[in-house]
Amino acid sequence: MAKLKSISKISSWFDGLNEPLIIAGPCSAESESQVMQTAKEIAESGKVKIFRSGIWKPRTRPGNFEGVGEDGLKWMQQVKKEFGLYTAIEVANTEHAELAIKHDIDVLWIGARTTSNPFSIQELADFLAGYNKPVLVKNPINPDVNLWVGALERFHKAGVNKLAAVHRGFFPFEATTLRNIPKWEIAIELKSICNTLPILCDPSHIAGDTEYIPEIAQKALDLNMDGLMIETHYNPSVALSDMNQQLTPIQLEELLGRLIFRTTTVKNSDFTNVLETLRSQIDSIDQQMLELLSQRMNIVEEIGKYKSKNEVTILQLRRWEKIVSTRIKLGKKLGLTEEFVKKLLQLVHKESIQRQTEVMNNLNSSSRKK
Ligand code: PEP
Ligand code: MN
Repeated sequence: MAKLKSISKISSWFDGLNEPLIIAGPCSAESESQVMQTAKEIAESGKVKIFRSGIWKPRTRPGNFEGVGEDGLKWMQQVKKEFGLYTAIEVANTEHAELAIKHDIDVLWIGARTTSNPFSIQELADFLAGYNKPVLVKNPINPDVNLWVGALERFHKAGVNKLAAVHRGFFPFEATTLRNIPKWEIAIELKSICNTLPILCDPSHIAGDTEYIPEIAQKALDLNMDGLMIETHYNPSVALSDMNQQLTPIQLEELLGRLIFRTTTVKNSDFTNVLETLRSQIDSIDQQMLELLSQRMNIVEEIGKYKSKNEVTILQLRRWEKIVSTRIKLGKKLGLTEEFVKKLLQLVHKESIQRQTEVMNNLNSSSRKK
């Protein structure tokens, strides 16, 4: 596995940096005044050392705000000059990286979509080899730890040793309350593969909504991650991208005041603590299990509506028998006992019937009212 040796500590990147490192700033640079106002308010808190901003925005579909481009780099230089904050931007290709260097950007980060592509990573690694800039590598969109490690290795091999990973969650294949599934176990696995590699958490992109940011940020700190990258905008309600997940600088300050930061004496030993690792795996699996059950119930309700419309009875014995026998067979293959699978199915089935009965009763009573 990966040998990421001689990785520099965050505190040695520049003067005044310490761990946990707090990076904050808007999802996107939108205008000079938005960048300057946001940076001014963030700088006033005194808790943030690096100001982030997206200059070129990777959009899933064209037509959304794609970033201000080169103009934004001048605003970042101004932020540095006026407020003494270090600056960080995302680079997705060598042209971006060249412009970032030309404008003296301090830290470069690699976005999740770029990490997913080894060709782009290799080009960037070769290009950045001689520049000695810190590079932050976000996790790839897919929950594939090797793809993440591979990207880090490419930079490391090219001679970049001011390296850190950023955990921003993974694409959820099913609808979830969070924008991206954290899958903490993957960040933990990365740390256990390379225990000197700093890992930051980006709770904003995991959450997708400011409501969930505090608990995710706290969880990251409890796992002794090395810092946070939090999207912050002077007025999120007018943000051109990721409006729902950006905090105001005041909210950021409040959050940083409320979070519990652990003492450095238990650092590292704790992050790879076996019990914590296993518990995180259980937490992640339970969350996915409950989300799947909730989706199952939603489908059950859809079936209820269909049955009601077509006057089909709720319980169809043959279907139920088939469910039981196929699931028991599958359970056995997966090492689960017949008794356990049966009990679990009965519980789920009971709840499903109740849901369908409610749906059908509601539909019947509203059609009676008409
Ligand atoms: C971002 O940080 O604004 C961003 C686009 O993040 P990600 O690459 O994690 O989606
Ligand atoms: Mn964003």
